[in-house]
Amino acid sequence: MAKKLEWVDQEIAALKENGLYNNIRTLSSPQGDWLTVDGKQVLNFCSNNYLGLANHPGLVAAAREALLKYGIGPGAVRSIAGTMDIHLELEKRFAKFKGVESAITFQSGFCANLATIPALVGKEDIIFSDELNHASIIDGCRLSGATNVKFVHADPGALEQTIRDNEGKYRRGLIITDGVFSMDGDIAPLDKYADVAEKHDLMLMVDDAHGEGVMGRGGRGIVDHYHLHGRVDVEIGTMSKAFGVMGGVVAGNAKIVEWLRQRGRPFLFSSAATPPDVAACIAAIDVLEENNDLVNQLWENTRFFKREMGGLGFDTGVSVTPITPIMLGEAEMAQLFSKQLFDEGVFAMPLGFPTVPKGKARIRVMISAAHTQDDLDKGLAAFEKVGKALGVIK
Ligand SMILES: *Cc1c(COP(=O)(O)O)cnc(C)c1O
Repeated sequence: MAKKLEWVDQEIAALKENGLYNNIRTLSSPQGDWLTVDGKQVLNFCSNNYLGLANHPGLVAAAREALLKYGIGPGAVRSIAGTMDIHLELEKRFAKFKGVESAITFQSGFCANLATIPALVGKEDIIFSDELNHASIIDGCRLSGATNVKFVHADPGALEQTIRDNEGKYRRGLIITDGVFSMDGDIAPLDKYADVAEKHDLMLMVDDAHGEGVMGRGGRGIVDHYHLHGRVDVEIGTMSKAFGVMGGVVAGNAKIVEWLRQRGRPFLFSSAATPPDVAACIAAIDVLEENNDLVNQLWENTRFFKREMGGLGFDTGVSVTPITPIMLGEAEMAQLFSKQLFDEGVFAMPLGFPTVPKGKARIRVMISAAHTQDDLDKGLAAFEKVGKALGVIK
């Protein structure tokens, strides 16, 4: 008997022993405020479908139309025969929406980070990276081969000190941060970083995955939120969260976008996004440009839910966005809480170590514009019932 794969069994057993094994639930309904999860109807407090666009009739119709006109597959990478007119239309529309010079799309936000970071910096260069940056940023930094220096989370003073400590030791430098941090729902002090970047002549990049469609005027993102137009070199975005579809995007300085068309490896070596996806992304921009109703609804729901949760006595952490962590301490408590919520018909996932620090386990509620007042009331009632039963609130 060959033993070469025994290590997998051991690793899996260790995950299960430590409570780190991912039990993945299965949906059999479209995204929306209510879902069918493992055969049960539950209120959805888990998905990144911030504006309810994932099953929006306008997006579905646009995808269907593109399917009939262009077919299903892209057939090639962007740089050979995979660039269709709709890919270019999406890039133009996105750049205009964001108020930037230029934009280029990728297959996902994850790909956008893997494409961009190694195209901007290499072995002789340095990256200053927030210690809580997203996994796709971390992987992009590793791939680049540049020296990777972490700085204390959301601390411009620490960033500047780190830059001083490394003065003269590199060719080019790049500052990278998440815009919105997905575990705590706090945001980067990007205005301060822009000052630091300019002072030290460093490139500045922000990953706006949870800010797109959420922050700024009409959901134009974190750069718009701080009025930093033209001062951030690269914005990474995703069309898989608030946009409700699938895809990544890099927006910003035209020189960088042009460079990525030549040297962004997933652009050159992985096939283009499918026509229905691209058409649906364009339709999402149509919806966002039409009016601010969905973005306003998202924030109204967020303010209501946080206020009521605070009133019940829950600790909702430091979030300033629709991401609402309910701080519960130990991982076992978060898991138990989530399980009891599910029994009450509410789907909200627990997060524990190593996703968040030890002792800071939580349930993360993702508020959406798709939630009705009735949904939010039902969710709050379930939190109150379980919170009292488990002694989290009085
Ligand atoms: C979700 C996320 C991504 C990945 O986006 P996808 O389009 O889902 O690949 C990248 N960066 C951050 C900060 C994210 O939250």
